[in-house]
Amino acid sequence: MSKALQAVRGMNDILPQQSTRWQFVEERVRGVLEAYGFCEVRMPVVEKTELFRRSIGEVTDIVEKEMYTFADRNGDSLTLRPEGTAGCVRACIEHSLLVNHVQRLWYGGPMFRHERPQKGRYRQFHQIGVEVFGLEGPDVDAELLVMTARLWKSLGLRRLSLQLNSLGTSEARARFRDALVAYLKEHFDQLDEDSQRRLDSNPLRILDSKNPDMQALLDAAPLLRDYIDDASRSHFESLCSLLDAAGVDYRINPRLVRGLDYYGRTVFEWVTDELGAQGTVCAGGRYDGLVEYLGGRATAAIGFALGMERLVGLLESQDVPVPDRSPHLYVVVVGEQAQRHGLLLSERLRDALPQLRVVTHCGGGSFKSQFKKADRSGARYALVLGDEEVNRREVGIKPLREDREQETVSFDALHTRVAHLLELV
Ligand code: ATP
Ligand code: MG
Repeated sequence: MSKALQAVRGMNDILPQQSTRWQFVEERVRGVLEAYGFCEVRMPVVEKTELFRRSIGEVTDIVEKEMYTFADRNGDSLTLRPEGTAGCVRACIEHSLLVNHVQRLWYGGPMFRHERPQKGRYRQFHQIGVEVFGLEGPDVDAELLVMTARLWKSLGLRRLSLQLNSLGTSEARARFRDALVAYLKEHFDQLDEDSQRRLDSNPLRILDSKNPDMQALLDAAPLLRDYIDDASRSHFESLCSLLDAAGVDYRINPRLVRGLDYYGRTVFEWVTDELGAQGTVCAGGRYDGLVEYLGGRATAAIGFALGMERLVGLLESQDVPVPDRSPHLYVVVVGEQAQRHGLLLSERLRDALPQLRVVTHCGGGSFKSQFKKADRSGARYALVLGDEEVNRREVGIKPLREDREQETVSFDALHTRVAHLLELV
C-alpha cells in the first residue's frame, strides 16, 4: 500500500464533529443578516491577480507575500482570493448593481493566504463578508456595528469588545503620514526589519505591528486623531453618539489602522482575549474610494468580515451549546421482510414529519449488533422491526436515552406516536 496523502499545510478538514458548530454559526449569521435586509452574493474563488494588486495595495502583507498566484493554461495570472471585498466590488461594477442603488450584500466562503499556520491563522480559512454600498454614514456605520453586537448575542458569545478608530480622509492621512515618518526616522534603529522596510512604502502599517519590542516606541508616536479633518471628525463623533444611544460599548483605539490599503474614516475590530494571539474575530471599515478606484462610479462603501475559524473556536472555548443533529430515530431491521418494511416506514415518517432525522439500518446483522449501532448514532429512540412485528403490522419503540420500557404501536399509529414522543408537532 502506498503512503496515505495528507492535506496541504494550513488547510483544514472540517469533520462531522465540528461541522455542527459551523452550521450553527452560518445559520445564526444568515438569520441576523436577513433581519437587516442583506442579500447573498456568490463570487468565484479565483480572480485576476490584477484585481487584488490594485484594490488591496502593492505594499500590503497580502499582496507582497501571502497570495496564492498562478498562471492558468493560457498564461493569465490568477489568484485564489485572499479576501472577499475586492471580488464583491468587481462583481457589483461588472453587473451595474450600484447605479442609483443602495446594496446590502453578504457572502461567505474560503479565503487563501500563505501565512505561517498557527492557532486561529490558516492558509485556507473562511470568512463571512458583509458590504453596504451607496451610503455615506455615519448612520449605516452604526447600524452595522449594532448588527454585529446582535450577532454575538444570537450566537451566545460573550466578552467580545469593540475597538473603533477613524482614519480620516486620504489627505488627512497623508499629513499624519509625514509626521509619523519624521518621528520614526528619528528612532530608526529601534524599528524591526519589517518596519524599517515599511517606513518608505507603507508607514501607517507599522502602527499595526504586533512586535512587543516596538510597543513603547509606537505608544509615543504621533496620533492620527490629531490630524484628521473636521468632516471625518464629526462623522466619527456622530457614530460614537449613535453607539452610545444604542448601548453598544466600544473603546477608541487610536492605533487601529487595519491591514488593507483601501480603508478610510471608520475602522473597527471586535476582539477577544480568549483565543491567544489571534483575537480579532471581526474586522472592517469604510472604503469610500475603492469602487471608483476599480473603475465604477464614486460610491460610498463600508463592510466587515467575520473569521469563521475564530468564531467557531470561541464557541468551543466558551462552551456554547449548539443544536444536536444526531438522528431522532434509528430503525433496527432484522430479516428480509423487516428490511423492506423498515425502508417504507422510514419514508412515510419523513413524509409526515419533515423535521425528523431517521437512520434506517443497512447492512444486516443481529438485533444485538444493530442496537449497538443505534446507541452509537446518538438517536433518542430505536424503532424495532423483526419478522414478528411485521406479521402483526407493529413496530417496537425503544427509548435509548432514558430508562423506560419498550412500547409497541401499529404501523398506522407510528407517525403520530413519534411526533408526540419527540415533540415535533
Ligand atoms: P490579522 O491582523 O489577524 O492578520 P487581517 O487584518 O489580515 O488580520 P482581515 O483581512 O481584515 O484580517 O480579515 C478579517 C478577519 O478574517 C480577521 O479578523 C480574522 O478573524 C479572519 N482572518 C484573517 N486572516 C486569517 C487567517 N489566515 N486564518 C484565519 N482567520 C483569518
Ligand atoms: Mg493578516
